[in-house]
Amino acid sequence: MSNTFQTPRGTYDILPDEMGKWHDAERIMREVSDLYRYQEIRTPYFELTKVFDREGDSSDMVNKEMYSFRTKEQYGEQSESYTLRPEGTAGTIRAFDQHKMYATNELPVRLYYLGPMFRHERPQKGRQRQFTQYGVEALGIKSPQLDAEVIALGVDIIKAVGIKSVKVAINTLGDDDSRAAYRQALKDYFAPHIDELCEDCHRRYEQNPLRILDCKVDGDNPVVLNAPKLSDYLTPESKAYFDEVLKSLESLGIDYEVDDRLVRGLDYYTDTVFEIISVRPESGKAATVCGGGRYDHFIDYYGGPELSGIGFAFGVERLLTLAVEEGHVFNEDRPLDAYIISLGETGSIPLQVAQELRHAGLTAEVNFVPRSLKSQFKSSDRKGAKYVVIIGETEAAEGKVNLKRPGEKEQITVDRKDLVRTIEGME
Ligand code: ATP
Ligand code: MG
Repeated sequence: MSNTFQTPRGTYDILPDEMGKWHDAERIMREVSDLYRYQEIRTPYFELTKVFDREGDSSDMVNKEMYSFRTKEQYGEQSESYTLRPEGTAGTIRAFDQHKMYATNELPVRLYYLGPMFRHERPQKGRQRQFTQYGVEALGIKSPQLDAEVIALGVDIIKAVGIKSVKVAINTLGDDDSRAAYRQALKDYFAPHIDELCEDCHRRYEQNPLRILDCKVDGDNPVVLNAPKLSDYLTPESKAYFDEVLKSLESLGIDYEVDDRLVRGLDYYTDTVFEIISVRPESGKAATVCGGGRYDHFIDYYGGPELSGIGFAFGVERLLTLAVEEGHVFNEDRPLDAYIISLGETGSIPLQVAQELRHAGLTAEVNFVPRSLKSQFKSSDRKGAKYVVIIGETEAAEGKVNLKRPGEKEQITVDRKDLVRTIEGME
């Protein structure tokens, strides 16, 4: 019978063979976060739809990619619309506001998250429907140095997983006044060219013409390439702020490139926006590993005070792919210290020996299949055991075990109670 049960399109299983690199990458991300004193926050995988679908948001993520569902009217509750989280910032800030973290902590509050996100996109290389993001948010303070700190953290994580060929692309979207002036300039510019743009861009023209610059269809259209530049519409304050961010990056020795077409896919950004991009040509469309920016009007949206914040998110799958392509070798999960094999009537003694090893901090696995010693030794090799513990009927009765290193001829017999000490002595 063929197996008709498969993972949904755009999702995948991570099988145990692949898990070592995930654990290692997650450990690295947590360790670098600790160095910068960013603390983990875990929010639900689903939220009320209105947490993500904010008024006036015109991004593709909100308009086209969300997994939303209505709950049944039951348990005395109204039917509600919920959405699987497509990103981590909204839930994090909702929590920051809900728990009044701005009042109970010194600002900025530095947070990170790590977990699955869900977007209904067309699956392709580097684009899944369930994927993993690591992200940070530094909340409550607007400072160019904090922007540089956040970018530095992103760069450090990328380096720590062994990715060398990346660059930071950075831009400013300016403050409210800068953007209002620019939006008008774009409208005036695109008005006579509207027929040359894709359908989605017609909607973008009405909702937020800045989005046209980020269009995946029209991105290389000369009409889009020749559009006015935001840098010409910046207020002096926004320009000074951006200059200070760039200076701070330089002071940390972080290479960057100002890309004045970088507007980012989400609507809530103000001032600094940035991406960390692989410069390896093979990476193609999956080249952007990390995207982020500052937001001035997000924290107050969920009922908090008018505070600014900055954050970024990595796609962990893209990060892992790049790391592996660049030849980084991840630490595997713990290897097998001892494989315990037996012959004859040994009852639960092999099990007890394994337990003694585990409680001494050694990894141990027991053979439970009645079969020849030869076949058990083969398993031990396949599992890569560092030691084989062999227990026969006589040893079992006398409280002894045999110990052997695979590949070595000799085997020694020791008292069971001395096994851990003997192994430790051989390390
Ligand atoms: P893109 O332009 O590639 O669609 P985005 O602007 O939608 O990216 P963000 O919302 O900023 O991306 O998410 C940050 C990072 O999350 C991306 O740089 C990418 O590494 C990763 N990411 C986003 N969408 C997906 C996806 N569908 N599958 C895998 N990773 C993703
Ligand atoms: Mg996207």
